[in-house]
Amino acid sequence: RWSRVKGRLRTSVGEDVYTSWFARMDLESVQDEAVHLSVPTRFLKSWIQAHYADRVLTCWQAEMPEVHRIDLTVRSAMRSAAPAKEATAPADQRRTEQTNGRHAPELRATATAPVSASHDALGGSPLDPRLTFASFVIGRSNTLAHAAARQVAEGRRGDPVMFNPLYIHAGVGLGKTHLLQAVTWAGNSGSERKVLYLTAEKFMYGFVAALKTQTALAFKEALRGIDVLVIDDLQFLQGKSTQAEFCHTLNALIDAGRQVVIAADRPPSDLESLDDRVRSRLAGGLVVEMGSLGEELRLGILKSRVAAARAHHASFDVPETVLDYLARTITHNGRDLEGAINRLLAHSKLNNQPVTLEMAEREVRDLIRPQEPKRIKIEDIQRVVARQYNVSRSDLLSSRRTANVVRPRQVAMYLAKTLTLRSLPEIGRRFGGRDHTTVLHAVRKIEALVARDNALSEEVESLKRQLQE
Ligand code: ADP
Ligand code: MG
Repeated sequence: RWSRVKGRLRTSVGEDVYTSWFARMDLESVQDEAVHLSVPTRFLKSWIQAHYADRVLTCWQAEMPEVHRIDLTVRSAMRSAAPAKEATAPADQRRTEQTNGRHAPELRATATAPVSASHDALGGSPLDPRLTFASFVIGRSNTLAHAAARQVAEGRRGDPVMFNPLYIHAGVGLGKTHLLQAVTWAGNSGSERKVLYLTAEKFMYGFVAALKTQTALAFKEALRGIDVLVIDDLQFLQGKSTQAEFCHTLNALIDAGRQVVIAADRPPSDLESLDDRVRSRLAGGLVVEMGSLGEELRLGILKSRVAAARAHHASFDVPETVLDYLARTITHNGRDLEGAINRLLAHSKLNNQPVTLEMAEREVRDLIRPQEPKRIKIEDIQRVVARQYNVSRSDLLSSRRTANVVRPRQVAMYLAKTLTLRSLPEIGRRFGGRDHTTVLHAVRKIEALVARDNALSEEVESLKRQLQE
């Protein structure tokens, strides 16, 4: 029966996926409605749980309809193996699948699981085998972050720690998770160090779970036994007790000369919910920002994605002109670049057509977003207007009503209304606490004047240009 289930699984996921993930899965026992399976590594376990929980169950039910639960355990407490050894993930294992997979039903560990609750909490978050240094493309915006991450990954146990913590921040899709997982893979395969990758959510979850089972102490101890602690998406760390715990862990690790690597979507100073001590500790290491992906970098990422896809789909190719087109038009983030390549791959495979510019234009239309307009701040407007009319910013905010101040003030309010999304009352507040009707009056007045006064119209246009630069 087990071999028939395996057969089904093999057909269902395909040969590549099967060999990568299921070849080393063993049947331990079948009891009534529960099947107990085991795999050799924690990494395999979490990967299968995140991506294939449903699939495994369905295959069993096809053979044994009474099966309602799959318990998956790790055979021996081994650490994650290197990606090269265990994770020849086929290209069709999409990242999106991983994200969705997080919500897949969890396979529960049996009571006989060889891992304790605290240990389980320390299993780390699932790693994507494709997010390694080898696939990370270096460009102007990430050179420093990459170099620092590499340095950290190459350290050996006992080496002096150069920057601690290493704190990387960047907007969505700019490569934070990729870099952090690369550090984790490299660390786990290269040396005898224990590298643990946790999302802030997983950290909270682990801590809360440990509290519930009264293994919090073990959890803390185990955390402190890590050589490199990698925490992703720190902005999601919430709750007073978890924050306090995070603070203790951070201090303990840093004081013990262990490396901490953190990623978040904002600099430490903007993590409003964290307390001052944690923020200053975070800011005390190396803080690096990764900027937006420049066109060259986008092109590099697209090329590396195509190369990765070609490893499994040799006939897939994307002409240079299409790559250029995508690099130029998809400006937002790495995820969209990846999504674009995935779509082209799917489309060209399904229809058995080569990728053309036309196909690309059609398939990725919704990923192409207009260049996001620069966010203009009211302070900037006030500053630029004050400079143009040779008055001070406080004049604009004051209640003075002399003509040389009134007009610039009205212009500034007009610009605030047309160039920002602020409401009239908000603009009034920002202009020395004026009423919204005053703002409305100013806006109407300038609108009317601009329509017939060429000189003013040009002034306003020039101010807009200065602000948009
Ligand atoms: P973040 O965690 O900052 O939101 P990710 O690390 O998840 O972003 O990156 C989003 C996608 O873009 C991933 O598929 C990632 O592999 C890709 N990506 C981002 N930056 C790079 C880069 N420098 N080289 C290769 N791929 C990148
Ligand atoms: Mg991320």
